[in-house]
Amino acid sequence: MSNRTQPAAADVVVVGAGPAGLTAAIRLAELGLVPVLLDAAGEPTRTSNASLVHASTLEILAELGMADELVAAGRRIHRLVLADWGRRVTAIDLTTVRSGYPFALSVPQSSTERLLLARLRQLGGSVRRRHRVETVEVDRAGQVLRGHAGEQPFALRARYVIGADGAHSTVRASVGQEFPGRTYPMQFVLADVPLRQAPTAADEAAVVLSADGVTVLGLLPGGNHRIVATVEPAAAVPERPDRSYLDQLLARRETGARLAAEPSWSSRFRVHHRVADRFRIGDTFLVGDAAHVHSPAAGQGMNTGIADAYDLATRLAAVLAGTADPDTLDDYQRHRRAAALEVLRFTDRMTRMALAASPFTRRLRRVALGALPRIPRVNSTVTGWITGLDRSPLRHHLPPVPASAGEAPATAAPNTASPPPGTVRRR
Ligand SMILES: Cc1cc2nc3c(=O)[nH]c(=O)nc-3n(C[C@H](O)[C@H](O)[C@H](O)COP(=O)(O)OP(=O)(O)OC[C@H]3O[C@@H](n4cnc5c(N)ncnc54)[C@H](O)[C@@H]3O)c2cc1C
Repeated sequence: MSNRTQPAAADVVVVGAGPAGLTAAIRLAELGLVPVLLDAAGEPTRTSNASLVHASTLEILAELGMADELVAAGRRIHRLVLADWGRRVTAIDLTTVRSGYPFALSVPQSSTERLLLARLRQLGGSVRRRHRVETVEVDRAGQVLRGHAGEQPFALRARYVIGADGAHSTVRASVGQEFPGRTYPMQFVLADVPLRQAPTAADEAAVVLSADGVTVLGLLPGGNHRIVATVEPAAAVPERPDRSYLDQLLARRETGARLAAEPSWSSRFRVHHRVADRFRIGDTFLVGDAAHVHSPAAGQGMNTGIADAYDLATRLAAVLAGTADPDTLDDYQRHRRAAALEVLRFTDRMTRMALAASPFTRRLRRVALGALPRIPRVNSTVTGWITGLDRSPLRHHLPPVPASAGEAPATAAPNTASPPPGTVRRR
């Protein structure tokens, strides 16, 4: 009862400790404000889910002091090879990208989350696990999050709420935001498998087009390959695709790949493309999958969420420290919603182009794909899209951060008169 009348208070509460929530928490902590970070789950992601980290994300992680560790944990992919029925048509060369990270990194999401968590701990932060947020109520004094920590109800007052609670976001629903968009008709198959025969070199990922669907293959650290394949909407796909199913699929599409053993993990799923109308609703913000979901084409989901989180956390820290006008928070929505829409358009176009079915469009596609990357401007536009560098918050205007990042700002942020439980100022 008492927590209903006197909720504890914090400057910033982050809901969800996936890649986006962890990034927001790290950036805030780095700028002197360790937020309260809640997660319903008892443990972090154990599976490889989003396994491609792009140059723009590595630049952000370098700012957060953890790119080297992640690069050491992953495999560098230098080229994205496009093949049509086993015939190599062209390759997108990532080594020419203007970044300190001229490659994409193949690394399981579980490793990325483990390193994000380690960095947060270094900065004095932690995750309150088994804390499920059920509502966010707005009143005159701000916002109150209510939920359950295990069996125990809890309430927490927050000046700012960051909803990083994934595609089925409770925060988004609580603040009355729809999630407009569509579901792709086709199914997606995903598997981590050891291959006896690989279609490309170890530093290349392959995108194999066929009338049957698109298949993407890339080597993960540890020796498994990640396979992602689109499958016809009505096809019978096992819940856990096994070696025999996958071998048949790979052979039918002439990928040149053959499995050496059963997959260590496999799954089938459907994909949505949706963007929330607003990423800022008063003092509540949506980041990552809570704000946008799209086709896995070119592995943009987690990368875009990390960029959202970095952008928003920088603005919030600056506003709380008094180094930026609160209007900068509107710019979060302006920049990041535009970035999400661009990702959605781009991944949607790639997905539809890859699924072109008629022999004529497929022939046209083969000619176009062979020619376009050789035009330097086209090549740099495509790599700009894929790497996310053109959309990166590091390449746009972020407000000045509190002097000497890492030190506690001299200007006291609100809520500090009686130190709010869970909001820790770094000394
Ligand atoms: C099987 C699979 C394969 C994928 N493959 C790819 C890929 O190849 N490439 C790619 O880019 N992306 C891929 N994705 C998507 C990628 O994993 C997401 O884009 C990314 O995880 C989004 O990060 P996030 O932090 O926004 O949300 P999430 O990772 O979903 O994290 C949300 C967190 O919020 C917590 N949470 C949820 N509700 C509440 C609540 N009410 N209260 C408290 N906590 C809550 C959850 O426990 C979770 O920890 C894949 C996803 C899946 C499931």
